[in-house]
Amino acid sequence: MRTALLLSLLSATLGVKALQLQLPFKVPFFQSTFSPEDDEPPRGTPRVAIVGAGAAGSSASFWISKAQERFGVDVEVDVYEKTSRIGGRSLTVYPYDNDTYKSNLARSIFIKANKNLWRAAQEFNLTLKDLSSDDANLGIWDGEELRVNFGKGWWDTLKIVWRYGVLSPRRADSLQVQVSAMVSKYTSLYSSDSPKWDNITELAIGLGWLDLIESSGADYFIKNGVSKQYVFELIEAATRVNYGQNIDSIHALEAACSIAANGATQIEGGNWQIFERFLNHSGANVYTNTKVTSITQKQSKSRPWIVNSDKGSTGYKAIPKQPYVHLHVTLLTTTSPSMNRTYLSLSPDAKAPSMLLTTYDGVRQGGKAPEFNSISYHGKISETEWIVKIFSEAPVEDEWLQSLFDGQVGWVHKAEFDAYPKLPPTSEFPPTKLDQGFFYVNAFEPFISTMETETVASRNVVDLLLNEEFGGSSICGPRISGSTKEAIVKESDFVFGWDC
Ligand SMILES: Cc1cc2nc3c(=O)[nH]c(=O)nc-3n(C[C@H](O)[C@H](O)[C@H](O)COP(=O)(O)OP(=O)(O)OC[C@H]3O[C@@H](n4cnc5c(N)ncnc54)[C@H](O)[C@@H]3O)c2cc1C
Repeated sequence: MRTALLLSLLSATLGVKALQLQLPFKVPFFQSTFSPEDDEPPRGTPRVAIVGAGAAGSSASFWISKAQERFGVDVEVDVYEKTSRIGGRSLTVYPYDNDTYKSNLARSIFIKANKNLWRAAQEFNLTLKDLSSDDANLGIWDGEELRVNFGKGWWDTLKIVWRYGVLSPRRADSLQVQVSAMVSKYTSLYSSDSPKWDNITELAIGLGWLDLIESSGADYFIKNGVSKQYVFELIEAATRVNYGQNIDSIHALEAACSIAANGATQIEGGNWQIFERFLNHSGANVYTNTKVTSITQKQSKSRPWIVNSDKGSTGYKAIPKQPYVHLHVTLLTTTSPSMNRTYLSLSPDAKAPSMLLTTYDGVRQGGKAPEFNSISYHGKISETEWIVKIFSEAPVEDEWLQSLFDGQVGWVHKAEFDAYPKLPPTSEFPPTKLDQGFFYVNAFEPFISTMETETVASRNVVDLLLNEEFGGSSICGPRISGSTKEAIVKESDFVFGWDC
């Protein structure tokens, strides 16, 4: 927040997320009592308000606390969360309400290149669960037939096909090189000279990604010599399971992210624990079950920002409406060791896939759409009972579930999310900075939507704020070259914001 520093993160999916920072001498004012009728609120310790305790909000709070530790910014941070829990879309549920059976409701993986989450896991002593050795049998279903039925670990299989270019022999290697180059550019966001951005298009240009965001995945990969079959089966399977979107409607950057998952991992017991630790570490005041209903600015001399819960008043209208993919997630347990072979038109002795992804290509050729985006077996709760997760565009019927698992369905849990932004090719993104002291962290989501990138986007916003309000400062304090811990951190291990 500025003229007062009101720094706001708004969540386009679920409502408003606001982070405000108010400094004493420059007015804006965050009124934590939610009484917009007051004329001029009393002055005191400057406050930051963060609306939403998901990856973005919790990490924003953490980054501010880093600045507090390092150069003693005197601010108080309030985090408002409309639900009773921390973690937002990162959510764990317990089959049969038994907390010994944990399962991430969102599939929720991250990789080693996600340096903030990786580092947080280490710093907070959380246990990483390596998923790369999961030996799922991968199948790709087009709504009517099983087009692909691999018998090995699915990411490994994808990587092998990618590496050796089974379907598009000569170009696949070069494309793999391009994806690696993209990941390597991305890691520049963790270096000490990481760019700061308030315009995502300019960031994309700086990273050399304009072509990727302006092209659909299909156009981009086909233009680069990958066969249509590879694109519409394998890569589309990855975009549909990761983003619920088809390869010809998602931009190529996010499509490339979908296939860059090398060394997938998650936190044992749920990724939300990272976000809980961020908040605990930050010492922020966390108000759960508190829904922010509007953010307004008073017309008094100080022009304070006011965050309102349920008292009405006019909302902030600077953010264009962001369409999100509405996803149904069904988690169930079954004693059936595999999906029904008849449904998949498989012979009785054929091995049914334990990870069934989908392509929309059947529809392009006049066929039927798949009834789901993915179905995957995710471990066991006992020797004879498996956990299965289904992503679908529409709710699934219990009857359909029973037929798919031979009448052997036990516990069922259904949830829905505005899961990820719609990600069409574009070079236009929502504004990161909405006004003086008012920021929208989720502006980054239509560019790349992951837990990690929300922590990167929040770091940027906190940094922008500090930079503007503290004369070129940052989370790491005034930038004095050659100082601080960074000098003793190996270049490859350095993570901007953590090591400075
Ligand atoms: C099914 C599914 C699978 C996914 N898989 C992965 C994956 O494998 N890897 C990955 O990195 N990402 C994955 N994602 C995406 C990832 O979960 C999101 O990118 C990330 O959680 C976004 O974090 P956020 O803090 O921006 O938003 P959210 O997590 O949505 O947090 C926003 C928070 O704000 C709160 N809130 C909203 N409005 C208000 C209000 N008015 N007042 C108070 N509080 C409010 C919400 O309750 C919520 O807690 C998945 C998402 C889903 C749904």
